[in-house]
Amino acid sequence: MTNPHESAPHDPAALHKRYRLERERRVRPDGAAQYRDADAEFGYYAADPYTEPAERAPLRDAVDVAVIGGGFGGILAGARLRQQGVERVRIVEKGGDFGGTWYWNRYPGVHCDIESHVYLPMLDETGYVPEWKYAPGEEIRRHAMRIARTFHLYEDALFSTGVTALTWDEAAETWIVATDRGDAFRATYVVTATGTLTDPKLPGIPGIEDFEGHTFHTSRWDYAYTGGTPRGGMTGLADKRVGIVGTGATGIQVIPMLAEDAAHLYVFQRTPSTVDVRANRRTTAGDVGADREGWARERRENYLRIVSGESADQDLVADAWTASAGLLEKLLPSFRRQGDREAFESAYEAADAAKMNELRSRVEDTVTDPETADKLKPWYRYACKRPTFSDLYYPAFNRGNVTLVDTADTHGIERVTAHGVVVDGTEYALDCLVFATGFNVGTSGIHSGKLPVHGRGGAQLLHTWARRGPRTLHGLTCNGFPNLMQMGPLQNASSVNFTHVLDEQAIHAAALVAAAEAEGACVEPPREAEDAWLATLAADAPDHEWFHAECTPGYYNREGRGRPNGPGGYPHGAVAFHRLLKEWRETSMGEALRPRTAPRV
Ligand code: NDP
Repeated sequence: MTNPHESAPHDPAALHKRYRLERERRVRPDGAAQYRDADAEFGYYAADPYTEPAERAPLRDAVDVAVIGGGFGGILAGARLRQQGVERVRIVEKGGDFGGTWYWNRYPGVHCDIESHVYLPMLDETGYVPEWKYAPGEEIRRHAMRIARTFHLYEDALFSTGVTALTWDEAAETWIVATDRGDAFRATYVVTATGTLTDPKLPGIPGIEDFEGHTFHTSRWDYAYTGGTPRGGMTGLADKRVGIVGTGATGIQVIPMLAEDAAHLYVFQRTPSTVDVRANRRTTAGDVGADREGWARERRENYLRIVSGESADQDLVADAWTASAGLLEKLLPSFRRQGDREAFESAYEAADAAKMNELRSRVEDTVTDPETADKLKPWYRYACKRPTFSDLYYPAFNRGNVTLVDTADTHGIERVTAHGVVVDGTEYALDCLVFATGFNVGTSGIHSGKLPVHGRGGAQLLHTWARRGPRTLHGLTCNGFPNLMQMGPLQNASSVNFTHVLDEQAIHAAALVAAAEAEGACVEPPREAEDAWLATLAADAPDHEWFHAECTPGYYNREGRGRPNGPGGYPHGAVAFHRLLKEWRETSMGEALRPRTAPRV
């Protein structure tokens, strides 16, 4: 592991103590139960502000593949299926258009903090070259629509439609897809790409429902109220006292924009994020070598190698993510193998302390009021929370119209009243309250219980998994649920560049469909293949305990309770996982195919 800040001072014992104290201030006994879903009486927070659903008759027809979700996962599945020659592909999406998270998140300042030339998929295929190193959300959303147009995915798409049940018709060997628009159509295959952080969540603060001012969640920005666009100019806020709850990756992007436009901004912070250098800039095709064929694939693979802890001749992206790869992918065997465990941990801690000291100094160097600067300093290890990046965030706190209200001692905001927010007994009067409080983790789609999946013999997926945990082959397919392919992080590999991971999953799912079509087969791995996969995941599973013991709570560690039980992802990282999938397709794909018994519809 490289340590660019070898000489930065740190005292491990003092840091441990401080980290533990800060964690104890924040851990709540109610853990994840502290949050509320944005549904039922809070459904207003999740309603689509961008598109009025179009009237249409319910569908009873049949398609080859139903793809659930129209974000990058679903779009990539559709595109890769088209490349395999599949004709009837129907993407079903809750939003009014393609884009997924980039459809919903249009808040002021929205950008992707992964370099656009590696984050935006299918640049080689669409001939598009992003204009910024870190692209604004609108450019990303338009690229999602570009891929959908290129691969004719609008043709059969259903928007403003949520899938409510999937039922395997054993006699016909097809899925019946039911939706909240009354559809009940058939699909030979189903690919689920429902995302991981999609359903907005609210803090379970007493009195939220009593607030008489205006309120919304960042993923449903109300420009009708604020005025302006994602680039700012929110003239509607010029005479408003605005409060924002949450200083995660979203809050960090929104807060400087609100600071610019609101009469006064109150930032209610519970845990400060790490906020590293952004250095965004316009880029040209020449900057990224976009005149060469395959340039985007090469750049993306280079990035994935570095952030996955594999060696690479050069660092093409060269940003804060790649510089901190050793800290982020701390638990990969490729890093852990460097020396014995004690030596690894102490080298890791030295590098981590140096990085965190650097980030704490950044606050001191920028924020002029020492008390405010002190509150903004993060006290935990770098990878405990999602790193963030901004050159505008800290300067916003030097403005006269911005007040930082630290809520760590009271475990967050105490109460909302008709006229504002109460922290530590003080009421802050507000006209508008914005929730940048993030999303429920893993609560959408087929793992949520909200979308029941009935497979062979009527077995329900979550019931089947209830006793011994999820069982899959490569995270994508499972026994008892034929022709169902699940995209997402479950039991495969993840990465900070999640669109890359999704693309590899899409390639795999499309290859399975093509092979099944060619063989007249159904896709269904035998139980033995699942057993072998679970054993592979467990064999070299990293020990997270020493790391999480001092981590501040958040969605990375189930609000302070450590990692979920059971095998996690593939322990050797995304690059090795993609290699494994490719080899399996070339040599062993037959093990997941069994002959069809019913004729193909
Ligand atoms: P997060 O879950 O990361 O942050 C939620 C924030 O709300 C935290 O600061 C949290 O504090 C705070 N909060 C929650 N409850 C309370 C309460 N009762 N009182 C006070 N504060 C409270 O959500 P985000 O939307 O910021 O980010 C979610 C994810 O979306 C990111 O982690 C990232 O993966 C992705 N994202 C990616 C971006 C990109 O550029 N690629 C941009 C934006 C988001 P605490 O930390 O104490 O829990």
